[in-house]
This record gives sequence, C-alpha cells and structure tokens, in this order.
Amino acid sequence: MDKKYSLEKIRNIGLVAHIDAGKTTTTERILYYTGRIHRIGEVHEGTATMDWMVQERERGITIQSAATTSYWKDCEINIIDTPGHVDFTMEVERSLRILDGCVVIFDGGNGVEPQSETVWRQANRYHVPRLIFVNKMDRVGADFEDTVKQIKKKLAAKPLVLQIPLGKEDKLMGVIDILEEKAYIWEEEKTTDMDYETGEVPDEYKAEVKKYKDEIFEKMAEVDESIMNKYVNGEQVTIGELKAAVRKATISCSFFPVFCGSSFKNRGVQPLLDAVVDYLPSPADLQEIKGINPFTGKEESRKHSIEEPFSALAFKIQVDPFIGRLVYIRVYSGKIESGEIVYNSRKSKQERISRIMRMHANTRAEIKECKTGDIVAIVGLKETNTGDTVCESKFPISFEQMHFPEPVISVAVEPKTKADSEKLSYALNRLSEEDPTLRLRFDEETSQTIISGMGELHLEIAVDRLKREFNVDARIGNPQVAYRETITRKVTEESKYIKQSGGRGQYGHVEIEVEPAPAFEFNDKTKGGCIPKEYIPAIEKGIIEAMETGPLAGYPLIDMKVNLIYGSYHEVDSSEMAFKMAGSFALQAATKKAGPILLEPIMKIEVVTPEEFIGDVMADLSARRGKIESMENKNALCNINGTVPLAQIFGYATTLRSLSQGRANYSMEPAKYERVPKNILEDLLPKTVV
Ligand code: GDP
Repeated sequence: MDKKYSLEKIRNIGLVAHIDAGKTTTTERILYYTGRIHRIGEVHEGTATMDWMVQERERGITIQSAATTSYWKDCEINIIDTPGHVDFTMEVERSLRILDGCVVIFDGGNGVEPQSETVWRQANRYHVPRLIFVNKMDRVGADFEDTVKQIKKKLAAKPLVLQIPLGKEDKLMGVIDILEEKAYIWEEEKTTDMDYETGEVPDEYKAEVKKYKDEIFEKMAEVDESIMNKYVNGEQVTIGELKAAVRKATISCSFFPVFCGSSFKNRGVQPLLDAVVDYLPSPADLQEIKGINPFTGKEESRKHSIEEPFSALAFKIQVDPFIGRLVYIRVYSGKIESGEIVYNSRKSKQERISRIMRMHANTRAEIKECKTGDIVAIVGLKETNTGDTVCESKFPISFEQMHFPEPVISVAVEPKTKADSEKLSYALNRLSEEDPTLRLRFDEETSQTIISGMGELHLEIAVDRLKREFNVDARIGNPQVAYRETITRKVTEESKYIKQSGGRGQYGHVEIEVEPAPAFEFNDKTKGGCIPKEYIPAIEKGIIEAMETGPLAGYPLIDMKVNLIYGSYHEVDSSEMAFKMAGSFALQAATKKAGPILLEPIMKIEVVTPEEFIGDVMADLSARRGKIESMENKNALCNINGTVPLAQIFGYATTLRSLSQGRANYSMEPAKYERVPKNILEDLLPKTVV
C-alpha cells in the first residue's frame, strides 16, 4: 500500500530511550494507530511486535534495530528501532547515521537516566533533531516539570514545552496542547480505538497554559526574525506562524519540543505522531550529503532528490530464514528498480538488486522500486556489508564509512559436541557478518575459536543466538587480555641445524641480528651466496613462526627487525626444512638474550561525568594505573580523557555506575601497546623467568 510518493511526506525516525522508559510500548502503540497491527502486544506478555528476536522477548530488551514503515495522516513514517543498552551503543550510532529525526522517550517518574544522556550526546554528534516524549505520566510520583528541569540541567538542552499533562498519576486524563490551547481527553482507560475528545482547557490549567505559551512566543522570537518583529511591535502571531517557527527551530536543533502522556494507558500517542509529521524533518529539509568519488578521490555531493543519480547507504544486514540475506539501505538520492545493477563503491563490485522489500514489524511487502528518502531491505546484494555505499555505476560515490570501534574483550568459544563444532564456524561467520563489532579468530595453538566484542553482554548474547538460531551449544571461557612481547637490545645469534646419521643428513646454518623496530621487518643481508637464495624464504618462515611464541611467557613477539647476515650450506644435506629450523632456533635464542619485555594493550578512555563525581572517578582511574591526559568542563559535565591498561578495566561499567549514581558514562578504544610495569609483571610470568 505505497502512498503517492512525495519527499516532503517522508519521516525517517528512531525512538530512543533509557531501558524500560517505554520505547517498545510506545512503538507498539504507534504501529497500532498507524494501522499496521491489529492487536496491541504488551512487553510484559512477551508479544511485542518489534522485539521479534526471542532473546529480546525473554530479556524484555530491544537489542537489534529493525526498520518498519507505517503511515500517519498522509505521511510515510519509517521507524528504525534502536537499542537502549550500553553494550549496544554501536547499534544506536549506526541508526543515528541514517535517521533524520528522533523521538527521545523519558520515564516521567525517573527523569533523565544515564543511558539517555549517552544517546543524547550521540544524537548531538550527528545533529539529529529530536522530539521529547515524557512517558509514564500515569505512574505514582511522575513529575513532568521536574523532568523538563532535568533535561535542561543534565542534557544542557533547550526544551520547548508544547504539551502538559491533564491530571496526574492514576487520574491522568490526557494532555493539554499549549499552542492550540486545547485539552485532548481519552475517555476510558485502555482506549485502543483511535479517538480522543478535544475540549476546552479547564480553568485551573489556564494560567499554566498562558505561562508556557508566552514562553514559546519568547523563545521563537529569539530564533525567528519575523516573530521577533511582531513580538516587539506587539502584533498578533498566528498558530501557523508559531508552528512553522517551531519546526525550523526543531530541525536546526535549537530547541527540542516536549510532549507527554502514557503509552501504556494509550494517552498522548496520536498527538505525538502528529508532532512527528509537523516538526521532524523530511529528507527534503536536509542538506546535501557529501561523499568521495572513489575513482578521482575528489569530494562530491548528492542532493536529496529523485532527479540525482542513485545512492544509498547499507546500514544493517539480517539473515532471514526464508528469504536469506537482507541488506537494509537508506536511499539518499535517485531511485532504483528491482533487477537493476548497482555499484558497491567500497568493494568495487557490481551487484544485482533481485528484490526490494518494504519491511513492516512482522510482515513485508515486495515493491518494484525504491526512491530518495526510502528505507528498504534489499535481496541480492551478496557482497554488501554494513557501512558500504551502493550507487549507480556511472556515478560512483562513497559516503563516509561508519566508525566501528575495536573490540576490547575476547573469549574462547568451545563447541560442546562434535556436531556443534561443525556448525560453529558457519554460525559465527553469519553473526559477525550481521554485526561488524563481533570479530572471529582461530587460535591454532589451542585449536580454539576466539570471539571478540564490545562487552560481556555483547558476547553473551552472541553465544545465546548461536544456540537458538543455529542450534549450536557452546561454552565460553573467561575474558582475556591480548598481551604481546618485544625486545629491547640488539643481539647477534648463530644457529646450526646439523644431523648426520647415515644416509642423507640435514644442514642449515644461519646468523641473524635482531633489534627493536617500530614494526616487524625481515631483511636478507647475506653476501656472496653463502646461503643459496632458494633457502631464504624458508628461513623467514621459520623466524615468523618462532615469533608466535615469545621467550618470556609465550605471547606473540612484535615490533622487531630481523637481519639475516651470514650462514653456510651443504651441497647434499641442506634443505628448506633444515634452514627453517635453523631460522627458528636462531630467533628463539636471540630474543632470549635481547632483553625481552612484556607488552599490554592500553586503551584510550573518555569518561563523561557530572562535576560532583570528578574526584572519585579520577581516584579510581589512578588506582587502575590510568593516566589522565586532559579534562574539559562543559555545562556541569566534565570530559576526562586518558589512557588505562585493558587488564585493569574489566568490570568498569559497574564500578563507574556505582561511583556516579549511574550518571557518568565512558567509551574506550585500543590505543597502543606498552611495557607491563615490573611489579605487575611478576604475577603474569612463570616464576622461573622473573
Ligand atoms: P523499553 O525498555 O524502553 O522498550 O520499555 P518497555 O516498553 O519495555 O516498557 C518497560 C515497562 O514499563 C513495561 O513493563 C511497560 O508495560 C511499562 N510501561 C511502558 N509505558 C508505560 C506507561 O506509560 N505507564 C506505565 N505505568 N508503565 C509503562
């Protein structure tokens, strides 16, 4: 049921919230009112439509984004579901990249909670216009005014109150619209029908409504010249003019309109949908999008227009058990039909679009073409991954890559049975394809599969999905830090691998020089053919293999230069094998003498904390061997930047939460390897070495 296409009539939005603020419940209502589902699923019953992954139902949290299209008034609203848990910030970032606007939901009882602060800052980074919905106004203790105050204080944002609650707690009847000066009343509890009554503002609310209306007027005068002129001259400003100004101020992120209600009691959701249409931007309101032409390396841009060449960004891969690999794309310009060929500018590959699907929460409709502003799922793009740009072959463009942070935590995954072991790698490959922050590696030595990710919950959920979706039972080990070794001195070492016990013997003789270097290097510096050229690669191979296991504690060696300086050979007995062994032994002996040290990964960390917790946060970071590099205060918040060893930072999320009453948050990424201090080293090494 595609409505008549018009760019102005598209809204690509996300709903973001702290966990439990009511995002899923609100989304359910939106889907219900927009006519997409026929029964409202309640979260606590485990039937919510958007939470289609089984674990999400069981855990009652929304993990992965799913896109769904619905219609309100004459607009097409594409809703990108975004997760609320801190381990999934990556998913939130990914969604924010392709959204044009957001509805941020707060729990009117709990106010601004930490995760909302994080998401708010992420949305600031991407300049995403936002509406605020203060939910749960039916709860005992819900406080609208206080929530608005917290938005000002904790988020340093400028809220613009466009609605206030009518009644409170269990007497919440509806909402009052400030601009229209009207009361919207939902007569019965749990009205699942569309209708609400529009009535006059009760007398006891009139003063409050006037106060807020004056405020809107003043604030819009600040940002809108024509309103300012009328304000100064005491002229009448129409509601239409005010609404237009609010729309502009919302799109420029100067103000954030505030609405309220109770999703659970079905109060306030329809006016919220009206606000999405009235105030959030359509793709036509956006500035052109910039990218790089992969052939010329020059910057190019595309207008959000159907007249431009086709371009789109892939933002999510899902493997559907029935139709296979689905690539969710957001179309930035032009249009494309199924059957056509597109160009993946990152992979330099042509791919055919076999089907285009418009996704609804639990159904999908095949459509023939998709156009500027659309969010659809594509079947047929086999090579396209999250973050890739697909475009018209004749007009190649590559939009800015999404930034995927390095995973910080690794665990070994072991299949429980032989049957599981066969399915494991297939299943893990599928999962990491869907989620670029989940990485895989096979450890030859222990024959274990190592998965790395962004946090413990992240890995836990991956293992859970292995079981449910792929039927693979697996055990996981404890989280591990990836240590490395290196050398500190230049050393020369000779090694002979000689065996002469009847028949053909073995003969390999090398002399090498090892020294510290910024990265690994191998150079053949032998002269006069003392070692025939054909044996050199074998020597290098032996050296590289030996570097896998360092002399101190068996961790891989990095950052060293190896020069092959001399050697000799035997006409009959020399072989690749013999030279490889000689290379290996020489390296082992040399590194033992070259002052080996242990290196540990150091993370770059940024903690954002309200000022009152700075002291505790800093003291804790120092106790973790952290080094503070800079501090910046802004709007009652402090950004602390520094570095800290990965080994000291496990479980930090919990510590930080308790240090700051849950209000500080942090992000980190690997920065470099550094020498492990002596006192720490003793615990890490086998006793004989120290
Ligand atoms: P999410 O984690 O943000 O998706 O939040 P949910 O939609 O799962 O809601 C969390 C809990 O709060 C569920 O038990 C909901 O039934 C409940 N809830 C959601 N909205 C409201 C509301 O407006 N009022 C009340 N009293 N409870 C609500």
